[in-house]
Amino acid sequence: MATHYASSISAGDKEICLVDEGNSYNAITPPIVQSSLFSFKCFEDYRNYHLHKHHQYVYTRGNNPTTNVLEGKLARLEQGEACRVFSSGMAAISAAIIGHLKTGDHIIFFNTIYAPTMIYAGFLERFGITHSYLRTNNLDELSSAIKTNTRMIYVESPGSLDIQVVDLRKLVKIAREHNLLSVIDNTFATPLYQKPLTLGIDIVVHSCTKYIGGHADVMAGAVITSRKLMHDIDIYAFKLHGAVLSPHDSFLLIRGLRTMPSRLEALQLPTAKVVEFLLAHPKIVKVNHPLAYNEEEKALYWSQANGYTGLISFELDISDYAGLARFIDSLTTFHLGFSWGGYENLVMAPYVADDYDKVQVKGLKPNLVRISLGLLAAETIIADLEQAMAKI
Ligand SMILES: *Cc1c(COP(=O)(O)O)cnc(C)c1O
Repeated sequence: MATHYASSISAGDKEICLVDEGNSYNAITPPIVQSSLFSFKCFEDYRNYHLHKHHQYVYTRGNNPTTNVLEGKLARLEQGEACRVFSSGMAAISAAIIGHLKTGDHIIFFNTIYAPTMIYAGFLERFGITHSYLRTNNLDELSSAIKTNTRMIYVESPGSLDIQVVDLRKLVKIAREHNLLSVIDNTFATPLYQKPLTLGIDIVVHSCTKYIGGHADVMAGAVITSRKLMHDIDIYAFKLHGAVLSPHDSFLLIRGLRTMPSRLEALQLPTAKVVEFLLAHPKIVKVNHPLAYNEEEKALYWSQANGYTGLISFELDISDYAGLARFIDSLTTFHLGFSWGGYENLVMAPYVADDYDKVQVKGLKPNLVRISLGLLAAETIIADLEQAMAKI
């Protein structure tokens, strides 16, 4: 039976999510400063700005007051010194990677990684940046994959497809021994439930499109790290690649943060009930979620995180896509689609692009289904899964 752990979002984190510092006009929400540019009062200010002696808002592809409020919140939630937000999670991920690499460098991608991140890694080969992809959470394999030109280890923990956990403290130890930068995609756990910088990870990236936005109506990403490591990401990958977030979208994320603690807390018990139902179901071969881990993995997970989210994957007892199609098409409360972290139930099957047998030969799981629980009652969700399971 899945043990339910109450999430523990700290009072300090709740305050960061809810309260804005320095609010204008006593407004309860920060103003949306929908301006691409900010003018100078006089030539002296203008000149001193170029001499780095005068600081003010200049241009929104750089700094914007609304966006800065959001960046301040995310930096404090992750306990990092600096945050930059981007117009998508991929913009943040590509900035974090390219901001620190050059031709000849090598990256190790560790654990199952979000597929478009790996397509981006392939694209970097054109510029002489190579990679190895270790689709495992076994750290023994990490050390032997490190080459003389390895510069970065990029990890997801838990991964967002098979939800496997990595021992981040051990990973950091290996990275430091070899003088490598460590980067984590922390989208699954959110900055409320896992703070990788406090475990020694160098750079955290997020797709804010998921739980931080929380309503499936905004795309955004974030990079959080030290001031020193942000420098190159900021001046090159952020300002020059230019994938900045619009002030309107920053406002939507500030609003998303206000309800994120409540939304995540509301997911704890329903998620535990759904995992318990899945674990007991005879047509399910394996369930992937922190609540379904073995004792060792659970101990590891709870030493790194203090809550879980509503993203679950499981393997169905089927032998072809027909069974999968019957299951998915029978669901009535789930939308079939990518992404996750909104108010709605979502379902997707990650490995369907090839023939069923060919996918298996590659070591992937064509019977894997991923669900993201929205905010419906657990009983409604379980009844729906139950009736769809009967159609397999
Ligand atoms: C969605 C997602 C991304 C990419 O974010 P976008 O906002 O879609 O660009 C990266 N990593 C993970 C784990 C994701 O789920």
